[in-house]
Amino acid sequence: MIASGASSHETIIGLEIHIQLKTCSKMFCGCRVEFGAPPNTHVCPVCLGLPGALPVVNRRAIELAVRAALALNCTVHRSSFFARKNYFYPDLPKGYQISQYDRPLASDGWLDFPEEGGGAGRVRIRRLHVEEDSGKSLHDRFAGKTAVDLNRAGVPLVEIVCEPDLRSPAAARAFLGRLKRVLEYLEVSDCNMEEGSLRVDANVSVRPAGSGELMTKTEVKNMNSFSQLERALAYEAARHLTLVRSGEQVEPETMLWDPARGEARPMRGKEEVHDYRYFPEPDLPRLEITEDVVQRIGGSLPEMPWQKEQRFIDDYGLPRYDAELLSSSRALADLFEAVARSVPDPKEASNWVMVEVLAVANESGRPVEQLNVDPEGLAEIIGLVAGGRLSHSLGRQVFRRMVETGRSAGRLMEEEGLRLASGDELELWVGEALAENPAEAERYRAGEQKLLAFFIGQVMRKSQGKADPGRARQALLERLGRASPPDTPGS
Ligand code: ZN
Ligand code: MN
Repeated sequence: MIASGASSHETIIGLEIHIQLKTCSKMFCGCRVEFGAPPNTHVCPVCLGLPGALPVVNRRAIELAVRAALALNCTVHRSSFFARKNYFYPDLPKGYQISQYDRPLASDGWLDFPEEGGGAGRVRIRRLHVEEDSGKSLHDRFAGKTAVDLNRAGVPLVEIVCEPDLRSPAAARAFLGRLKRVLEYLEVSDCNMEEGSLRVDANVSVRPAGSGELMTKTEVKNMNSFSQLERALAYEAARHLTLVRSGEQVEPETMLWDPARGEARPMRGKEEVHDYRYFPEPDLPRLEITEDVVQRIGGSLPEMPWQKEQRFIDDYGLPRYDAELLSSSRALADLFEAVARSVPDPKEASNWVMVEVLAVANESGRPVEQLNVDPEGLAEIIGLVAGGRLSHSLGRQVFRRMVETGRSAGRLMEEEGLRLASGDELELWVGEALAENPAEAERYRAGEQKLLAFFIGQVMRKSQGKADPGRARQALLERLGRASPPDTPGS
């Protein structure tokens, strides 16, 4: 049998992801975490690795790591250990990184993600551990020299190691997108690839489709956006395939992706674990996490946006479009649910939140959570419009004033005259509209019935939205001498 085309091989991708935890201070000292601060301004004896300085674990960092681990369906271990990962590099002042090795914080999780063209993929998570970041080497600061900024040294990270369950660069991108959304929603990390708070390394190999063979893999680094990740993985998979087809060996190397040139170049031979001479960190006790802490953090995990989306469809009968938009931010979703609880038709609540609330947010340039929309107040307006006591346009005006002033619908209707016009007022505007446009009135009476819309518009304008369009139409028809349009039989 002759193997044909790319379908004869499959790409195997495994990701290792470093996530910067959203803490105020570093992992083992009190130094502030701040992106973009002047170089070497957030350092102390601990993160500079001065002799005798002792590390203390940042409790908040551990809580965030547990939060991430639980959301990724991992088992959180009651005790885990810190270890020293030894290597020499100018941006690593201690000569080792405090990480975790054979006893990580958590292991054996998974995350489902939406695959292109429908369906769900699943990536198993081998382990999740906490560690500290290194400093940063700056090669472009001084000509011909490398500078070191240690502000980042000691910043808390979690490293997430995935099983090689991904089969295409597109799937890797989709998975990473889902992971990023989970961690952002959990408020565990900003996940900003440009600022380095989400960093991804990928292991790539190519093997005959369906074979269980373990092929030589390479590691790709320096992919600083989702699109670069997809491009780099496609490049590397194609390179492997070319080598395999021509009977050449893939070398186990670490490849550095060059976004400008669109190619990956070998950086160094791939390290083996024994190169790092891991050993237990003698300055830190074992990390104990009680059942209580796991329970408390587990109980505080928010519903994920895609779970919310499905629940809005199932429980409120919303169209998918509405459910997706409303679940896109927590503030919007919470507001919708609070309003929907107080009105008979959830779709009405959805319409008002999607259209009016978002319009006010856009116009004011403020996010929904800062608008102080009172859900009860909005529900009341929806009820007044549904009951015919406010026109839709008046309802919108009342809502806007409510957001601005915090006053109730009843008070605004009373004090600002935001209420439907009385019959007398309507008669007055109808009379004015006809008197001001005698030629149009004549043409209407001669059979040009489309002018009715023109007169309704005139009356609505005079009323500044306070006239009910249906009643305005009725009043005009009566004044123009007909109770129904001219061409109706019997008129
Ligand atoms: Zn420090
Ligand atoms: Mn690491």
